[in-house]
Amino acid sequence: LLRADGTTAPTIFAEMSALAARSGAINLGQGFPDEDGPVEVLTAAHEAIAAGLNQYPPGRGVPDLLHAIARHQHRFYGMAVDPETEVLVTAGATEALAASILALTEPGDEVVVFEPFYDAYAGLVALAGARLVPVPLRWPDFRPDPDDLRKAVGDRTRVIIINDPHNPTGTTFDRETRELLIELAHRHDAFLLTDEVYEHLTFEKPHTPIASMPGGRERTVTVSSGGKTFNTTGWKVGWLTAPPEVVTAILTVKQFLTYVNASPFQPAIARGLDLGEEVFDGIARELEARRDILVGGLRTAGFDVSVPDGSYFVVADARPLGFADARELCLALPRLAGVVAVPVSAFVGETNRSDYASLVRFAFCKRRPVLDAAASGLRRLA
Ligand code: PMP
Ligand code: GLN
Repeated sequence: LLRADGTTAPTIFAEMSALAARSGAINLGQGFPDEDGPVEVLTAAHEAIAAGLNQYPPGRGVPDLLHAIARHQHRFYGMAVDPETEVLVTAGATEALAASILALTEPGDEVVVFEPFYDAYAGLVALAGARLVPVPLRWPDFRPDPDDLRKAVGDRTRVIIINDPHNPTGTTFDRETRELLIELAHRHDAFLLTDEVYEHLTFEKPHTPIASMPGGRERTVTVSSGGKTFNTTGWKVGWLTAPPEVVTAILTVKQFLTYVNASPFQPAIARGLDLGEEVFDGIARELEARRDILVGGLRTAGFDVSVPDGSYFVVADARPLGFADARELCLALPRLAGVVAVPVSAFVGETNRSDYASLVRFAFCKRRPVLDAAASGLRRLA
């Protein structure tokens, strides 16, 4: 991972956030909210610290959170999850993904991912010594083609990583695709690793976990995180649910990665997961209004836009503006529009990078006045 000159390559998020800091432009690059989430969640963390919950918690997680995760899966998805054997708390979704990939693959195994993909997947698969097999999601609707998927999955496939709702495209997976994934996992004795961190950030229809569908549960590791739903990305409280023997295997890896995770934030996220349905609805509706502000600004500026069904990202094509290279545009965007974004090519392996060269990802998890200001900056491009 070291370059020849002894430096390491920063992630696209670090690079573009540094550009935003240097230029003073509005940062719609790295996806993190610019305001706090529900006050109940914040208060619960203060209370936990004051109550002395400041030492190592149990390895699987603080019992309050394990039970809240099980209640959440039952309330939203009708799933009966055993909090003692089928749940594992992790350092964000990232550690859940890392420990799962390390536990489920051997060097040389194949891991199928939908491309573009969240950058950590490729890094983690490489750390495990496994081989990434991409399935393209194509502009403009980013729906997978069943034939591409059938071609990519075979007997060497150990894991299929699914990110629904999807970062960076904001697409959500339809029932037929989810059913095909379950069928393929059974046929080829593979696991489905579903990254559902944006599960509550959907605009068209409620989210359905693959593990809640017939035949899905026994083959699926379901990953989520408190960071996206409750605007607590810096707390790094994530979790996974899976069959008991799979959780045990992943725990074996996790104990050597972080051992345990920050104790006072766990009961706080538990408080969040127990909040009323109106809170979850309110979060999605507010985000939808923000999506519409940014989509409007991008269209007025002259971009072609793929309107997302979920997540807090939107992908736009810069070709109508005369830019074939989104990376070049992203480097110029602070000067041209006072905005920072990230090129979608950062989420694509080398082989297929040119197919995504003109696409840009913008984050809309920002306050409305900030998005209004970004939209008016972008209009300068028109
Ligand atoms: N998966 C996806 C798809 C994400 O967008 C993110 C947030 N950057 C993560 C995982 C990481 O989540 P966490 O911060 O909980 O580790
Ligand atoms: N998930 C966020 C994004 O995609 C932040 C990622 C990160 O900073 N590693 O922008």
